[in-house]
Amino acid sequence: MSILVISDIHANLAALQAVLEAAGKVDAVWCLGDLVGYGPNPNECIELIQEQPNLVCLLGNHDAACMGNLNVATFNREARLAVEWTQTILTQESINFLLERPETEVIGEVTLVHGSPREPIYEYVLDVRSASDNYDYFGTDFCFIGHSHLPLMFYQNADENKVTLAFPQHNQPLQLKARTIVNPGSVGQPRDRDRRAAFALFDPEDSTWLLRRAEYDIQTTQEDMRTANLPKRHIERLNGGW
Ligand code: ZN
Repeated sequence: MSILVISDIHANLAALQAVLEAAGKVDAVWCLGDLVGYGPNPNECIELIQEQPNLVCLLGNHDAACMGNLNVATFNREARLAVEWTQTILTQESINFLLERPETEVIGEVTLVHGSPREPIYEYVLDVRSASDNYDYFGTDFCFIGHSHLPLMFYQNADENKVTLAFPQHNQPLQLKARTIVNPGSVGQPRDRDRRAAFALFDPEDSTWLLRRAEYDIQTTQEDMRTANLPKRHIERLNGGW
C-alpha cells in the first residue's frame, strides 16, 4: 500500500503536477494543509487535489487566512499581500472546499496535522524542544506534520525521555519507529535549499517512509506569479529553495 504524503503546495500547480506524476499510482493522498498562499494557481490546485484517490486534506494557516478565518497580523507584509491577492481570485467552489477542511485527522496509527498536534494550525515543530512538548498531544505511533517546509523527523528513544532530530535522506526508505514525528517538506515552496518539490511515500503496512523530490518547471510558476503581480521575494525564493 502506498500513500502519497504532501504538504504546503501553496498554489504552485506545476510543482503539484510534477509530484503527482513522480509519485505514480498511489492508494491514497494525504495533504497536510496550505493548499493556497504564495503561488499563482490556488483554484487549479484545489481542483486537482480533489481528483486524488482517498484524499485526506487538512487546513493550514494560509488556507484559514485566505478565508478570513485567521488574523494575518502575524504574517509578514509579503505573505499578507499574497493572501489578499488569493482572496480576490478564489472561486466559491474553492472557498467551500477550504471551509470543510479539518484541522486534525487520525487514521490508524497516524495523526495528521498542519503545524503540530498541540496547535494544529499555528505551531512550528522545528527543534527538539517543541517536538518533545508535543508528544503528549498525540496517541498514535506516528504524527505527520507540515508547516515548516522542511523535511525532517523527530523520534523518541526507547526510554522515552529523549527526543532526537534527524534529516531523512532522499530515496532511502526508512522504517519509522513508533512515536515518530515526520514532515514530508513542501511541494510548492521548499525551504531546505533544494528547489525541487518535496514529497513522501508512506506504506502503513510496514511503516516505511520514503522521502523524494521532483523537478518541476519553476519558470512557469514564476511567470504566472509575475503576471499576478505577486511579491518579488516569493518569486525569487523558488530558485534557491529558501
Ligand atoms: Zn506553508
